[in-house]
Amino acid sequence: MAGLNKDDLKQMNRRYFQSLSQERLVEVADNLHKLATDLWEKQQQSSENSSQPPSKDNPYVSLSTTEESSQTSESESVEAKTSLKQIEESREKEKKQKSSRKPGKQPGGKGFGRKQPLKAEVIVPHYPDLCSACNHDLAESESQRYMGYYVLELEPKLFGFGIVTQLHHYYRTTCSCGHCTHAKPGTGYISVVEGRSKDLQLTEYVLVGAVLATFIASLSVRYRMSRTKIQEFLKDWTNTQLSIGTIDRCIREAGIACVPVVEELVEQLQQADILHLDETHWYERGKLHWLWVAVSTKTAVFHIGSRRKEELSYLVKEAFVGWLVTDGYAAYRSHPKRQRCLAHLIRKAIAITGAINQKAATIGQWILEDLRALIATIAQGSEDARGIRKRMAGLRRVCYLGKKVEHTKLQALAKEILNDWDAVIAFVKNPELPPTNNEAERALRHAVIARHIGFGTRTSEGSLAYSSLLSVIETCRLREINPWTYIAEVLALARQGLSPPPFPVGS
Ligand SMILES: [Zn+2]
Repeated sequence: MAGLNKDDLKQMNRRYFQSLSQERLVEVADNLHKLATDLWEKQQQSSENSSQPPSKDNPYVSLSTTEESSQTSESESVEAKTSLKQIEESREKEKKQKSSRKPGKQPGGKGFGRKQPLKAEVIVPHYPDLCSACNHDLAESESQRYMGYYVLELEPKLFGFGIVTQLHHYYRTTCSCGHCTHAKPGTGYISVVEGRSKDLQLTEYVLVGAVLATFIASLSVRYRMSRTKIQEFLKDWTNTQLSIGTIDRCIREAGIACVPVVEELVEQLQQADILHLDETHWYERGKLHWLWVAVSTKTAVFHIGSRRKEELSYLVKEAFVGWLVTDGYAAYRSHPKRQRCLAHLIRKAIAITGAINQKAATIGQWILEDLRALIATIAQGSEDARGIRKRMAGLRRVCYLGKKVEHTKLQALAKEILNDWDAVIAFVKNPELPPTNNEAERALRHAVIARHIGFGTRTSEGSLAYSSLLSVIETCRLREINPWTYIAEVLALARQGLSPPPFPVGS
């Protein structure tokens, strides 16, 4: 039988038990015992003995409850409502009304002007170099100023940094040929999001300079500060007042500027001998998405998308001939050279060692011991081929035993190991392969914490900006270089419509 569900439990009460014959009562008790055992084992799970992340929020559960609740609030129930139910429904309705409102300033709302006056500390003049009509050098000709705007820029000092107000002056010059040429602030890529009133254009004609914008992006992406916290921080520590909209723009600009850099990194990934792959769930506008990561020794690329197999081909191209280190996710299975992450299997085995079914617990313990011994033997560089073969045969035998025990989780684990046997033991024949996927899991950890704080991203552009920044930051970390000077340079060039400099190889 399929096991007791919520509806079954609801129908059971003391009176029902009293009405039953002895024989039926035993049946019911047996079913309840099964349920209690399942629940108890589930309760024992933690991030240490299963693949569960440290936070307990299961994305499927939270999504399905919101779906259910919206269904109940849509269909007016005919039955008499208890007061509790009424409260519940009115709360759900409130939530729904709130979520239908778009985040940010509402259309038609009153705008805010700049309250803090700016005073220029540095004047930066821009003259046209050449006549745009005849290419004549304009250095000797007389120029007139025709426009100017303020830029707040972060300037590093020997110790610390300061924010400087620059006044950029733009000049026009009339050539001896009679043609008048204007120096203009640079413009770059335009990022379009459907349904948005104003597209994001990369341009130099903005209040926040490239280095300060990168600093703001670092506060958001690396130090996980909210837009409001960044606003507060800049005001309190640097006496600089910026609107939330301006802060948000800086973060997206820095991210979008990094997109071509990431394309280069994806190409570099394909050259790797070993690629670690992992994924975790992510939210884009509250909808379930996946955050993928592919890590080699010197490069990391993040990608936000669906959980379909096609998303994987963005990170691992068909031309990739190296090894993949992955968890058990089916989309990876088609790659011929693959190492299964044994840490995942070990955590599952640990969970089974605590099973109520004694036989299952014992076999779980054996699987655990065999996996650990195999890892230790290879790590020590053992030459004892016979001992290793014996150990592998032992693990296989134990898994066949486990398949026959009436314990769902043990059966699943045993099948998982046997069905994917070649990938489980690939590291035995190829000792250069790491038997665990720690690299990828560690790379994802930062984003997992960010997801808990900020609940994901809001638009496809936000996701692209976030994953691109993560890719550049993590790759810089692997190559031991400062990510922020590089990103600031990339952004400054992107605002002029220029390509990024080649990614530093690092040490
Ligand atoms: Zn000319």
